[in-house]
Parts: sequence; C-alpha cells; structure tokens
Amino acid sequence: MDDKMKPDQSQGAGMGTRVVWGGEQVQHPYNATQTPIVVSAAYGYQDIDEWYDVALGKEPGFIYSRMSNPTVSVLEHKLCELESAESAVAFSTGMAAISGVLHTFLSCGQRVVSTRDSYGGTNKIFEEFLPRMGVEVTLCDTLDTEAIEHEIAKGCNVLYLETPTNPTLKVLDIRRLVAAAKRVGALVIADNTFATPLNQNPLALGVDVVVHSATKFLSGHGDVLGGVVCGTEHLMSKVRHYREINGASLDPFSAYLIIRGIKTLALRLRQQQASAQVLAEYLCSEPLVESVNYPGLPQHRSHVIARSQMRGFGAIISFVLVGGMDTVTRLLPLLKYAHRAGNLGAVETIYGPARTTSHVENTLEEREALGISEGLVRVSVGIEETADLLADLKQAFTLVRSKQNHAHHHADNTERFTEVGT
Ligand SMILES: *Cc1c(COP(=O)(O)O)cnc(C)c1O
Repeated sequence: MDDKMKPDQSQGAGMGTRVVWGGEQVQHPYNATQTPIVVSAAYGYQDIDEWYDVALGKEPGFIYSRMSNPTVSVLEHKLCELESAESAVAFSTGMAAISGVLHTFLSCGQRVVSTRDSYGGTNKIFEEFLPRMGVEVTLCDTLDTEAIEHEIAKGCNVLYLETPTNPTLKVLDIRRLVAAAKRVGALVIADNTFATPLNQNPLALGVDVVVHSATKFLSGHGDVLGGVVCGTEHLMSKVRHYREINGASLDPFSAYLIIRGIKTLALRLRQQQASAQVLAEYLCSEPLVESVNYPGLPQHRSHVIARSQMRGFGAIISFVLVGGMDTVTRLLPLLKYAHRAGNLGAVETIYGPARTTSHVENTLEEREALGISEGLVRVSVGIEETADLLADLKQAFTLVRSKQNHAHHHADNTERFTEVGT
C-alpha cells in the first residue's frame, strides 16, 4: 500500500535513532522533509485499469482513507520498526485497537484466558461484551502463574496479556506464558502500552500480536488519541480487514501528532524513568506511604522477572497512602507540578487515584476484590527536572503531616488545606 517507499535505513540502528527515522524513508510531495497530513477521503485515478489493480492490492497506492491513508501508513511503518514487526494497523483509539483485535480473532464458542488486572476498558470487554457474543472468558489472578498455565492447558484460543499492569505494576512472565499457550495452539496478544517498545518487545519473546494505546507514551503529549496493533503480515491482514469494515480508522491529523511525538520517545522515557526510580525510592521512606509499586525497586515482587524481559522499568509508579482517600484528597491538591487527571505517558507529571483513573468504571466492591485500595495513587512521571519533582512531593507530604499534627493539637482547627495549595 506504500507509495515510493525507500529501503528503511534505520534498521539495525539504536532505538533513539529508530524513533526519529523509522518508517519515514518516503519521498514526500514537494520534497517535504516532514510527513504531510493527507486529508483526502478518496484517491483518484486517470487510468481505470490502474485504479482496479490498486483496489485489488496488486499495485501500491490508496483508494479510500478508511482502508489506508498515506499519513497513517507512515505511522504504521514506524511502529513496525520499533516492534520489529512485519506489519502494523492503526486505530482511532487504544480501545478500538484492543476490541478490534479481540473481535478479529475470537468467535462464538471460543475461549480467552487473561488476568484480572488488565486495563479497565479491556476488562469491560472481557466481562460485558465478549460473553454477550458467546465467548467464554476466564480471568486469572495476575500473579498466580501456575493458575494461568492451568487455565491455558484446559484449552483456549486466545491468551491476552498486559504487562506491566495498571495501576499496580505487576509483571507477567511473558516467555513462560507464551510457552503454555503454544502447547494448546492459542494466539497470544500483549498490551505493551506501559512498557513502550523501548523497554519491551513482546514479539521477540514469542507473542503473536502487540497492541498499544498510542494516546500514552508513544504520542507523549496528552493531546491525541490512537491505537496500533503489530504482528506478522498474515495476522495483520485480518486485523486490517476488520478495521476497514468496522471503521475505527485513525484520522491523519492524529497520525501526524503521534508520529511527531514518537520522535522524542527515547529522550522522554530516559528522563522519565530516571526520575521514576528516584521518586519511588523516596516514597519508600515516607511515613505516610504504606507501600510502593515500581518494578525498578529491588524489593518489588516482580523485579527479577522485569529485569529478565524489560530494558527499563518505565515511568509509572503507584503507592498506597496511610489514611486512604482522606489522605489522597489532602495530598494531591498540594502538588505544584502535577495534572490531577486520568491520563498517563505525557510530558507533564500526572497524579491520580485509581478510583478516578484506571478503575473509574468499577464499583468500590469491585476495586476491593481487585485489591485496589482507596488510598492508591498512580503517578505518571513527566520530563520535568528530577530535583523539582522530588522537592514537590516532599513539600506536599511535609505539609500534610504538619497539618495532621496541628489538627491533633487543636481539635477545633478550622484551617483549610487548600490555603497552601496552588
Ligand atoms: C489507556 C490504555 C488503553 C486504552 O487506550 P485509549 O487510547 O484510551 O483507548 C489500553 N491499555 C492500556 C494499558 C492503557 O493504559
């Protein structure tokens, strides 16, 4: 489908180079150096035979932008480079990509095995939509590898993995679960959004299909929605067909923003995960913090397995506050360098409790069953200076603690915490 693709020169280069050049060896109109945003719904042909050949896929070219689009195609090639995939298919959102993939590969009477900790929207597909179309869904305890293997061995068509998980950063043993799936001939799909292609390449670990929410680290600026699926040409032709007919294609403006964002992915992530390590270590020493989840901490339950399959530990941390939601509502407004929002992977640091972010779709009872405490806060570490982020967190905790002591000494204290907020 590509017009005038030159051989990709970034193959074999380091990731920091591939994010910049990957998929972009295209001769653009007017010799533009940047990927043009091609907004045409359809593509016209003087020669009717040529038109027919392109429509049949015998010749490269474009017919209609729901099927393929030159801007979107550059993004798809970039993802192929980053995940070392033969082919990629872009969708309008990460959820469109995930539901598109599940609907492509599952039909009535089949069975999917996954874990309880997947992204809230994915979990809803498993609990609400797949059963409705007659697909049996089994969700296992995320950390119980034997239980997952046991369910796979009973027979399944798809094994769906997400690692590290949101928001508790549990890490699945990809190689071991892939081996179990291969024994029963199941297709393995992995959501690689949290790790990014820089830290983890599931295809290299035996996974068949990788999905990304490009809304997060790939685009990196919190200003666009998108999703991408990668795998062999054989598998992706099925996913592409599903998207062509069901219509959740990515629009070219969004594709452009994601391409632009990916160019700085390596630079951003290097800074973000260096800061994440520092913040996670500090949080371990903070008296108001009950527990910290970050795979980069040596004491983290998934540290060893993370080291074996990831090149870095990522930029998401979560921690549980002593005093639950009460402490959450005191602490978060005191932070200066923080969006309090339901997003992650952006250049700005973002804080959010699970209740209003990853698990907003769940009831209190459901969150409790998932082991998500009301005092759990997720941090998506941004690209700000590490020292500023650390100082900000420290001043917020210091204020909460001093106010607490104050309140103990003066029972009738009417001071408002927001007075010192920003
Ligand atoms: C955000 C997210 C999704 C969904 O992506 P959207 O672009 O918001 O539809 C899926 N998986 C994970 C891990 C995510 O963080």
